[in-house]
This record gives sequence, C-alpha cells and structure tokens, in this order.
Amino acid sequence: MRASSFLRFMRAAADEPPMPASTHALATRRHWVFDMDGTLTVAMHDFTAIRRALEIRDDEDILAHIASLPDANARAKRAWLLEHERELAHASRPAPGAAELVRGLVARGCRLGILTRNLRELALITLEAIGVADCFDPVDVLGREDAAPKPDPAGLHHLAARWTVRPGELVMVGDYAYDLACARAAGAASVLVNLPGNPWPELTDWRFDDCLGLHAALA
Ligand SMILES: [Mg+2]
Repeated sequence: MRASSFLRFMRAAADEPPMPASTHALATRRHWVFDMDGTLTVAMHDFTAIRRALEIRDDEDILAHIASLPDANARAKRAWLLEHERELAHASRPAPGAAELVRGLVARGCRLGILTRNLRELALITLEAIGVADCFDPVDVLGREDAAPKPDPAGLHHLAARWTVRPGELVMVGDYAYDLACARAAGAASVLVNLPGNPWPELTDWRFDDCLGLHAALA
C-alpha cells in the first residue's frame, strides 16, 4: 500500500466506532496463528535503509525486485538481505504482552503456529530471542519458503490440516492487512494488534491495542 493511501486509511480509522467487545467466542478458540514481525516483536525492519543498500526503488517490492535480477546479482543481494535480517532476528525484542499472551495460551492447552513472510530460519531465531521458542512446535512455524505468502491463506490451510481442525476454527493475529485478509480468505477469526485505530474494519473481527490487551481480554 502506498504511504499516502495508508495515511488516508489511518485517518478514516480514527472516526470508526469501537468494535463490539464480545471476547467470549475468542476465549474458546484453541488454535492460534501469529504473524511475527510487528505482532510478537517490536517492528525493526528499516525498509528504506534496505532499499538504499540494495539499490531498489521506493515503489518496488524488495523480494520481487531481487527475483527479477540475473542469477549472480540476485544471489549477492539475497545473501546481503539474509545477513541483515539475521542480525535483526538476533536483536528482536518482544512486543508488549507478547510473551504473556503466548504463555497464557499454552497454559490453556492451545496449539500455536507462526505464519510469516520472513524466512523460517529467522523466525526460529526470533522466537528464541524473545524467549518463547519453547511455546511453538518448530514444524508449526511457517516461513516464506513453506507456503504461498499472505494474504494467500495456504499457510492457514496447512496448519489446520496438521492440527486436524477446520480453517474456520483458527484465530490469526497480526498487525497488517495481509494478516487479516489471509484470515478472511481461510474463514478464520482475524485479530488486529499494535496499530492505533483500525484501518481495515472490514477485515477485522477483533482489535486490541497490543498483545497485552488481547491477553487481558482472554483472562
Ligand atoms: Mg507484521
């Protein structure tokens, strides 16, 4: 989404009435999937700096740009990006309430998964860095090489099949439209966190200020 239309969304969101706060239906869910960056972690990617380092224009998708390059050039840029993202993963910090929420769900017997557009290897490093790696079965951590990227619902279908539940029984928690649209496409419940207001009310079943708010609502 372009920055200008994103800001327009954000302004419109400030006028949205609050959503109905019935969280009982959410508290009974047992299968939860989380986005990683900006949802369980404090967002750290500086996409402007990445574009500058890799000589990618502001209006170009970074992954699509690299994929379009000749082999040797693409390999070099992919290697730089991986190294940069690995450093970020090691330095990850948990978003407010993320660890409490995840541990609370595990204590209630919930199955948890990750669906990220980042690499799986980096998602596993990130879970270690924020101190919740023990809450996730590594095979339930899906990176960009494991499933078609969000908003495609393939990752949610994959986890639902592994857990032998219908996709509609899942909850998808994220901080961006792709996460919510992915949930919609799978028929799963969508939960937005870590954004002021709600830019995407048509895609959102529940919204909380952060993981701490979600954790408190489930208690
Ligand atoms: Mg995110």
